[in-house]
Amino acid sequence: MFDKSLINGQLFINGKWVKKNLYILGEKIADISDEIKDAKEVIDCSGLKVLPGLIDPHVHFELNCGRVTSVDDFYYGSVAAAYGGVTSIVDFLDPTRNAEELEESYYARIKLAEKSLIDYHMHACIREPNGDLEEYVKMTKKLGMKTIKLFTTYSDTHRRTYDEDIIKLLELSKKYDVLILAHIEADDMISIKPEMTYKDLPISRPGYSETIEALKLAKYAKKTGGFLYMVHCSSGETLRQLKEEYSDIIGKNLFIESCPQYFVFNNSFLEGENGKLFTFAPPLRSERERQLLVHNFDTLLTIGTDHCAFNSEDKNWPTLAGFPLGVGGIEYSFSLMYKRFEEKVIDKMSKNVAMIEDFLTKGELKVGKDADIAVFKDIFNYREQKGHGRCDYSIYEGVLGSGEFIHTLVRGEFVLKDRKIIPHKGKEIICGEK
Ligand SMILES: [Zn+2]
Repeated sequence: MFDKSLINGQLFINGKWVKKNLYILGEKIADISDEIKDAKEVIDCSGLKVLPGLIDPHVHFELNCGRVTSVDDFYYGSVAAAYGGVTSIVDFLDPTRNAEELEESYYARIKLAEKSLIDYHMHACIREPNGDLEEYVKMTKKLGMKTIKLFTTYSDTHRRTYDEDIIKLLELSKKYDVLILAHIEADDMISIKPEMTYKDLPISRPGYSETIEALKLAKYAKKTGGFLYMVHCSSGETLRQLKEEYSDIIGKNLFIESCPQYFVFNNSFLEGENGKLFTFAPPLRSERERQLLVHNFDTLLTIGTDHCAFNSEDKNWPTLAGFPLGVGGIEYSFSLMYKRFEEKVIDKMSKNVAMIEDFLTKGELKVGKDADIAVFKDIFNYREQKGHGRCDYSIYEGVLGSGEFIHTLVRGEFVLKDRKIIPHKGKEIICGEK
């Protein structure tokens, strides 16, 4: 006797929709079959789509930015995630300079994540390294992670990693099978002048600062054979040029992520009455750049949200310097992207993330995998609604989407059932663990 069955739904398996029934025993998917078998709890999914639980590779819950902290902590962030069909998130440790600091930052932040309803994992994050880089990489692995994020910018706040160390980290990534995540903006092309406001974001952080830095880092990845993952690629021109010059390494040792905001909006939204709400880094780009991003969608390996929500009053800040940059999006990501790219987006939000992170039990509807499942209802002419996180607004309210999640299950247990949250305890995901 199975614990739960999801019957009569369309299941997404190996890139296609198939009408099958799925059976859960304990935390695992125990069977996928045409037959109807006995289960203690039967969930009728007639007319619904049954997806592998989504994995968001890029969130910032409870991020302390000095003057303000992002409003969605690991509890509220995971509530919003559950409404968005997301069953696992990857957040970031505080930036650290050496292996000892990394270990401390891991234990401090992983504790905050215990509030999460869904499963969680962290990226290590390096800044101005001052210790042995090999020790840093070894510590990352020892702590159950395989990704190290670096910034090519933010030298003003001591977060930049310089090229010499980037090259060393790429070399080490090959030796230790880790992945180097890079925030790609050329530091010397970014200028934040005292008189600038949020409206100056596009000139303060121009698209070419991303494109130029991306091409340079791609060259390093090609030379070293190291594993490089570019986070939140915002500019279609960046993608176009990477594809033109580095198609031989894209998907092999160069991986690219983008986020829904860069597909849905262009920088004219910064000019509107609520322009201050459309603020994040990298910023929104021109309509031409947005269209190029859409056109080169296939180049992307993953979609993350960069979820980092601030209340609207936090955005009442007179200057660009000190302005809280970031928006929420985890609840909306699938609905928005599915509307625009249909099935093509599903692997980028599940299987591909599991693959690069070595989340061996996640990412697919397959017998033996964790029963992380998201049940989606297509709704014609759906408009995005007010969210369920703690933020007082969303830039996506009223935007055309494709529908909503009815149920979300993590390791066989409901976290969202008939659109209501069910208490659940998320678990840390360890890379490579079965
Ligand atoms: Zn981010």
